[in-house]
Amino acid sequence: MTKVTSVMLTWQNTAWEYQAHPPQIAILPLACLEPHAAHLPIGTDRIIIGEIARRVAEQIGAPTMLLPTWSLGTSGHHAGKTGAIYLRFETLWAVVRDVVTSLHEHGIHQVAVINNHGSAMTGTTRPIGNFIVKTAVRQLNYETPGLTAIWVQPFAAARAELANLFPSARSELHAGAVETSLLMRLARDLVGALPPDHVPDVAPNYLDFAPFKKIAPRGIWGKPSEASADQGARALEIIVQATTDYITTTFKQLKEIKQRG
Ligand SMILES: [Zn+2]
Repeated sequence: MTKVTSVMLTWQNTAWEYQAHPPQIAILPLACLEPHAAHLPIGTDRIIIGEIARRVAEQIGAPTMLLPTWSLGTSGHHAGKTGAIYLRFETLWAVVRDVVTSLHEHGIHQVAVINNHGSAMTGTTRPIGNFIVKTAVRQLNYETPGLTAIWVQPFAAARAELANLFPSARSELHAGAVETSLLMRLARDLVGALPPDHVPDVAPNYLDFAPFKKIAPRGIWGKPSEASADQGARALEIIVQATTDYITTTFKQLKEIKQRG
């Protein structure tokens, strides 16, 4: 008989299969619907996050529940632009809280929230946004004994490797070489003619003070001219590996920390 060492369960499995292989970890992928310049679909993040999360859940090495990709984020910086369909921040907070709480009731006490794809611009693997997801995860940990929730942004987790692969990765925030390459790899038919590159002359935290369309009027923050399907395939592999490593290492460290007397 083959010993089961790794099982990924999804919405396609039965409750009986969940009882036979109780998941130890759940992966909750959070995406968004927002404009991605003239060449990528509004569901770009859903495609990218969904595939990264699926591959991470397969690799993680413990029975893992992969939740369906949640498609609506808090794209306030794109407000008023066609294609930006988003939630109020307190609504997303409630979504994260309620989903994680119900997983905890099922006996799944480790939940990794894949909080959008993030950016390679950061100096750390720790995610920089979405702030409300951070708050939701923090409060869940503080208010729910026995639960460990973490959040991860895949591009931040792989930031060093992405910077080696794409010369512009550290100056890319949106619809640039990394996102365009991944879409060329995952959904080639959905990628249109590449628009001109655009790297704004201000830091990304200016998005806290001014809308995206004022800083990057054509919806691009990066260099789509550097994109290719081959680069997308390589990027996908390193992003999945870095995200898997981040999740397993962080849960291991937190388990050790929480067992201290
Ligand atoms: Zn995106």
